[in-house]
Amino acid sequence: MKKVFVLMSLFGGLAMASEQQIAIVIHGGAGTIKRENLDAEQEQAIKQDLQAALDAGYAVLKRGGDSTEGIIAAIKVMENSPYFNAGKGAVYTKPGKHELDASIMRGSDLDAGAVAGVSFTKNPILAAQQVMLNSPHVMLAGSGADTFSKLKGLEQVENSYFDTKARYKAWQEVDTKTKAKAKGAEQDHQASHEDVLDAEFKFGTVGAVAVDNKGDIAAGTSTGGMTYKAWGRVGDSPVIGAGTYADNRSCGISATGHGEFFIRYAVAHDICARVRYQNKPLQKAAEEVIMQELNSVGGSGGIIGMDPAGKPVMVFNTPGMYRGYKTPKASKVAIYGDE
Ligand code: ASP
Repeated sequence: MKKVFVLMSLFGGLAMASEQQIAIVIHGGAGTIKRENLDAEQEQAIKQDLQAALDAGYAVLKRGGDSTEGIIAAIKVMENSPYFNAGKGAVYTKPGKHELDASIMRGSDLDAGAVAGVSFTKNPILAAQQVMLNSPHVMLAGSGADTFSKLKGLEQVENSYFDTKARYKAWQEVDTKTKAKAKGAEQDHQASHEDVLDAEFKFGTVGAVAVDNKGDIAAGTSTGGMTYKAWGRVGDSPVIGAGTYADNRSCGISATGHGEFFIRYAVAHDICARVRYQNKPLQKAAEEVIMQELNSVGGSGGIIGMDPAGKPVMVFNTPGMYRGYKTPKASKVAIYGDE
């Protein structure tokens, strides 16, 4: 009898293992991404990098790697690409520098790590991972976070490594507008939300969510923040529950958009909470939060997410979102809302 039970559980386990779908979903930022803003060459280059990120993450999952390693592989590709607002290609702060944020969360035990406002760490997602794995903390900020990442042996670069012409142009546009508005006033004023949102290419944060063959979900997000952000401004991306969340009991989420709204509405956690406590499908929970809650208050952006079965969702209230997913059965990369 005992033998039969052992055999049954063994087969049960094997059946379950083979049913678990590995999958990865990524974003490279949401915003006013319209066909007239991108030429064919840019579009192709961006799609190529999105595909390379998906392939890198999926390859890790396919060889049995865990979901945190899968999302890190994907996010690193996008951090190293000049087309996304994370790592190389990060936007400029008001004083014309780069301050980067990143976070990672593991759905199996709700462990998490984040860095905010790093200036010299080439791949902030690796620093977030180190905080999760090798520190008693969840978030490190500023120079302390850079020192920590250096002590952990992560590659350091000059702040100018993150410079790109396209992001500098966006900074100049906001700077010119801000100064023109302040003309006549005693002091230079802070850029308004509209100034920042008008910047070319808008957001561009990157993120990934994956499920591995054990059914463990992981989510991660990395960003340069928002163009012309004030000194020390921290957005939603490194805030667990706002820009990133993962819980095997509900879902994994990585967000992109106007960070202040995503923090105030605790977007990533709110979506997972609707799945967990109201038993809603992830797609519906995400639509409620992004298309209803956020839309009604003017919070623009989107999310990617995945449920424990490995079903990807991509929901955004902006004209476009750089995005893609890969499962054993399907793979897709897209930019505009109508794709
Ligand atoms: N959410 C990011 C921030 O507010 C920006 C983005 O998604 O592009 O820092």
